[in-house]
Amino acid sequence: MDLKDHIRGVPDFPKPGILFYDISTLLRNADAWQVAMGRLARIVGAYRPDVLAGVESRGFLLAAPLALKLGCGFVMLRKRGKLPGDTVGLNYDLEYGSDRIEIQSDAVTPGQRVVVVDDLLATGGTMAAGIALLKNVKAEVPAAIALIELGFLHGRDRLDVPFEALVRYD
Ligand code: 5GP
Repeated sequence: MDLKDHIRGVPDFPKPGILFYDISTLLRNADAWQVAMGRLARIVGAYRPDVLAGVESRGFLLAAPLALKLGCGFVMLRKRGKLPGDTVGLNYDLEYGSDRIEIQSDAVTPGQRVVVVDDLLATGGTMAAGIALLKNVKAEVPAAIALIELGFLHGRDRLDVPFEALVRYD
């Protein structure tokens, strides 16, 4: 199955000139959803993770069911101020402005193997921040995974761990 048949490009979202790759159309199709999760499980499982870290918010939709399938834990990398209790965060630059990603301080045990999962890699800024934050809390990060890679933005060049995606747009 070509998963691209189930991903919809929405022009001018969230602002003029941006083509947004919408995964809602994939998630709502039982067969496509099943195939995508099976392929992701094979890729992610090969890195023998203890925990999957999902990036808010669409990364959660992939990381949580994948973690269940692989029998590992799931932790959330969230936007600023959303997580209760002690947190550790990292600021990172966006095209315009900056953002902050946070994790609960006790979310991972030092040395745990944590694979980071998001729906899409664009410039790589979000994923790079997620990886750096996990390393700051002493996780081992064997890989980062996305459903979609926008190859023309070369986001993978910003990552210091192996990166794999199911679908690539050049
Ligand atoms: P980056 O930090 O790599 O530039 O942007 C990636 C982040 O923005 C991801 O968390 C992803 O969810 C979101 N994102 C950016 N563009 C798109 C898009 O076209 N489709 C989807 N589904 N997410 C996007």
